[in-house]
Amino acid sequence: MKFGGTSVASAQRIQHVADLITATDEPKIVVLSAMAGTTNALVEIGHQLMAHHRHEALTILTKLKKKYEEETRALFPDKHSYDKAWTLVNETFFFLEQICYVETFTLFDEKKILARGELLSTAMMLRHLADRGVAAVGLPALEYMRTDKQAEPDATYIQSHLQELLERAPKETKLFITEGYICRNAFGDIDNLQRGGSDYTATLIGAAINAQEIQIWTDIDGMHNNAPRVVDATSPVRRLHFEEASELAYFGAKILHPTCIQPAKQKHIPVRLLNTMAPEAPGTLISLDTDKDIIKAVAAKDNITMVRIRSNHQLSQWSFMGKVFSLFEHHCIPIDMISSTEASISLTIERPDLPEEIATSLRSLGSVDVEQGMTIVCVVGDMEWENVGFESQILNALSEIPVRMISYGGSDYNLTVLVSTSDKRRTLLALSDHLFKQS
Ligand code: ASP
Ligand code: MG
Repeated sequence: MKFGGTSVASAQRIQHVADLITATDEPKIVVLSAMAGTTNALVEIGHQLMAHHRHEALTILTKLKKKYEEETRALFPDKHSYDKAWTLVNETFFFLEQICYVETFTLFDEKKILARGELLSTAMMLRHLADRGVAAVGLPALEYMRTDKQAEPDATYIQSHLQELLERAPKETKLFITEGYICRNAFGDIDNLQRGGSDYTATLIGAAINAQEIQIWTDIDGMHNNAPRVVDATSPVRRLHFEEASELAYFGAKILHPTCIQPAKQKHIPVRLLNTMAPEAPGTLISLDTDKDIIKAVAAKDNITMVRIRSNHQLSQWSFMGKVFSLFEHHCIPIDMISSTEASISLTIERPDLPEEIATSLRSLGSVDVEQGMTIVCVVGDMEWENVGFESQILNALSEIPVRMISYGGSDYNLTVLVSTSDKRRTLLALSDHLFKQS
C-alpha cells in the first residue's frame, strides 16, 4: 500500500492512514511519500544552496520546520510521546541546518536533502503506530532500494536485500513501513527514483515480494479518462490493461510515475488505484483482465520537440535510419513517437529543444527541421487492429485540428498524435466530446 503526499499531509491525515493500514490483519508493506509540499521545499532549498543563497535556503527551512513542529504537536498530544517524536524530527532539521553551512555544496548534498522528506514521514508514522500499541517494523529504503549503472532499478539487489530485511523482523510482524522515492545509486550514494518515485518504490517492492496486489492510494478516485485540469467532465476508468496504464502514465497522466507500471506488468501483479479520502470508492484496477474493444482514456504530454530528417540520399535507406537512431542512443535521449517515409523520418523527444550537437550530426545525413512547443496526445484503449472503427473515430474527432504526426500500430493499445501545444486544450476537449460523451 503506497500513500502519496496529500494522504500524509497532516497529523490528521497520518492518523487516517494509520486507521486504514491497521484495519485488517493481512500482512502488508506500507510505502509513504513525504508530506505534501515537503519535497518541493527541499528542492527549493537545494537550488538556493547551489546558487550560494544561504539566507534564502534558511528561510525556507525555518518555515518547513515550523510546519513540522505544528504537525508533530498535533500527532503526539501527550508530552512524553511528543518529546520522543520531536527528538527524531528535529534530527532531520539539525541535519538540514548543518548542510546549509557546508563549504562546497555538491549534487551529493542535494540528493541527501531530497531524501529527508520520506525519512520524516515514515519516522512519524512509526512513532505514531508505536503510540497506538501497533507492532510495525520499519524497512529502511536506503538498505534495499538501489539503482544500477544505467540509473535503472536493480531488481536482483532489491529482491535479495528486501528479503533479508523481512526475514530479520520478528516472525509475527504483519505491518512494515518504508520510505518511497529514496534509494542508493550504483556508487552507493543516496539518490532517488525521480519525482513521484514513491509509486515506483511500491511496484518494485510488489514485484520483489510477489505481492498479491499493489495499491496506490492518492487523493483522486482512480485514473480519469481525460486530463482533469483541462477538461471538466472527466470520469474515472474502472479497469485498465497494464499496457494501457503504462501508456497513460508515460504520456502524461499525472496520477502515476511514468514507468512505475513496468515491474507490476512483468510479474502480472494487479495494481489498484484508490482514494484515501474515499476508501470505499472502487478506484481503478490495472491488470491483464480488462474491458475489450473500447477506447478508455486520453493523456497529454507537453514540452515536446519534433525533429524531421530528410535524407540527402548519400546513404542507403537502412543505414540512414540506423544512423539517425544511433545518434539519439549515443546522447541517451529517448524517442517517443516515430513516423517515416522512404526518404525521411520524423520523431519526437521530450525536450524543449534539440541539442545542438545532435542537430549538427543530423545535418550531415540530410536536411533537418525542428519544431518546438508541441504536445503528444495519447488515446488508449483496447484497439486490436482487426477491429474496425477506432482510428477513424479518433481522427474524426480531430477533423478541425492541425495534426503534425500520427503514430498507430506500436501496440494494440494506443493511437498517438502530435499537435501544437496551443491546440492542446481544443484537442482534449474534442476527444472528450467525441469519445466519451454519452448522448
Ligand atoms: N516525495 C516525492 C515527490 O514529491 C516522491 C513522491 O511523492 O512520490 O516527488
Ligand atoms: Mg505521485
